[in-house]
Amino acid sequence: MTAVHNFSGGPGALPEVVIEEASQALRRAPGSELGLLGISHRSDWFREVLDEAERNTRRLLGLSADYAVLFLQGGGTLQFSMVPMLLLRGTTRTADYVHSGYWSAKSIPEARLEGRVRVVWSGADSGFARLPGDDELELSAEAAYFHYVSNETVEGLQFQRVLGREDVLRVCDMSSDIMSRPVAIERFAIVYAHAQKNLGPSGVTLVILKKALLEAEQSPLPSMLDYRQHFEHGSIFNTPPVFAIYVTMLVTRWLLEEIGDLARMDAINREKAAALYQLIDQSDGFYRAHAEAGSRSLMNVVFALKTPELERAFLAEALRAGLHGLPGHRSLGGARASLYNAVSLESVHRLCELMHDFHKRNARAFSP
Ligand SMILES: *Cc1c(COP(=O)(O)O)cnc(C)c1O
Repeated sequence: MTAVHNFSGGPGALPEVVIEEASQALRRAPGSELGLLGISHRSDWFREVLDEAERNTRRLLGLSADYAVLFLQGGGTLQFSMVPMLLLRGTTRTADYVHSGYWSAKSIPEARLEGRVRVVWSGADSGFARLPGDDELELSAEAAYFHYVSNETVEGLQFQRVLGREDVLRVCDMSSDIMSRPVAIERFAIVYAHAQKNLGPSGVTLVILKKALLEAEQSPLPSMLDYRQHFEHGSIFNTPPVFAIYVTMLVTRWLLEEIGDLARMDAINREKAAALYQLIDQSDGFYRAHAEAGSRSLMNVVFALKTPELERAFLAEALRAGLHGLPGHRSLGGARASLYNAVSLESVHRLCELMHDFHKRNARAFSP
């Protein structure tokens, strides 16, 4: 049997040990007589799972007591609405958004349903191949908040710095790079990330927000869309996604016990991405990275081959070699290797070998 290597954009790869533990827990959860799928969300057993997930998250990200940690449903997409419902609805102020790619483009119309939005920079002119420098961002001191996406999953663009002004609430969608590297959360008002790219299975979304935001006077919202309800009920306002939270907890445990901390995770992720970008850059144009050098993502390496025929042949061959999830996003085509935390250096080396070999065998089909 060929070993399987998972480069899927999301839901993405999970650590082998986590898959193993989760499989066993389906039959019988550790410390319980019951299987994971039939345990009450009101049980002490599940409360302990939630507590550990929160504890591990606080430790990994170095969160202070000023922050609430919530496990919600509705994916990254619902956060595009919940954020402006809390911070924009009913005000006359404007929210500042960076339009850097596919996912930030999805967040903007949702915010517009709640109030005034200003796009402070758009990558449309560059075909979303690069990110802005600080001098290109027109940031207002009056903004209700400032929103950006730290890693544009589809185009493979990632900010290597914290964006925005210190005097404006900063909100960030970290869905595809949460816990892939250390980050100064204390500079953010709200950080959100669904689990299914770097943190666990689909079905749960991690939201980290300053508790002070929940104390402000505000018009009532439907309970499920109101962070305050979820906070007051300790993420058990209604039936939470027990399975997804359990597996996410296992992933945070894996990060602490197997990796150590986010600085170490970052070093591993850098090594993986460097290997792949180097191969692409040294291929004399046989492979071409979508992103400009200063904007490249360590999580999603997006690249094209010279012709659609070569792309099809490459992707088919990769699949036969056990390398899965490499077709690019449907909006962009080409190829995308997602190198999330659980993707091993060994998997990346396998991919590099195949790309090197494919290039050698097909170099003549393409003369630059
Ligand atoms: C995948 C993705 C989303 C969408 O998340 P859903 O959970 O499918 O709603 C949002 N933001 C980013 C950055 C993503 O990569």
